[in-house]
Amino acid sequence: MNEEKKDLITLESGEMAQPFRWAAGAYGSKFLTELRDNKKFVGAKCPKCGKVYVPPRRVCGPCFEELTELVPVSDEGEIVTWTVVSFGFVDPATGMQKPVPYCYAAIMLDGSDTVLLHFVDETDPEKIKIGARVKAVFEEERTGSLLDIKHFELV
Ligand SMILES: [Zn+2]
Repeated sequence: MNEEKKDLITLESGEMAQPFRWAAGAYGSKFLTELRDNKKFVGAKCPKCGKVYVPPRRVCGPCFEELTELVPVSDEGEIVTWTVVSFGFVDPATGMQKPVPYCYAAIMLDGSDTVLLHFVDETDPEKIKIGARVKAVFEEERTGSLLDIKHFELV
C-alpha cells in the first residue's frame, strides 16, 4: 500500500431518529405483560421433551413440537456465563452512550432450560462467578419491555 500520508475525513449524519415498532407475538406479549404487570417470568414447556424455553417460543427446535403450555419460572437463577463491558459505545436500545463498566450475563432461571441475557448489578470480577445465584430487580415504572427488569443482583 502507498505510504503517502492521507487525510482521514469523518462525516457526521447529524441528529437522526429511526423509530420502529414490531409485534412481540402472542407468547412474547404474554412474557412481557407478565413482567410488566406481575413481575413474573413465564416460559413455554415442550410436551415431548419437557424443555422450558424462556422467553417462551412456539416450537421446540430438537423435537419440532408446538409449545402450547406456558409455565411460571422463578425470578431467581444462576449465571451461566458473563462479561464485564468496559468499552463505551452508543447503546442501540436507547441511542445514548452506555455507562461503563457493566456486567452482562447469560442467566438460567430456576425452572428454565434456556438462558436469558441481561445485566447484573456487579462489576467486580472477584464477586461474579459462573454458578453464582442472582435475582431479578424490576423497574418501578414498567412498560412491557425486557428492560422492565432493571438488572439481576447477586443473592
Ligand atoms: Zn422438545
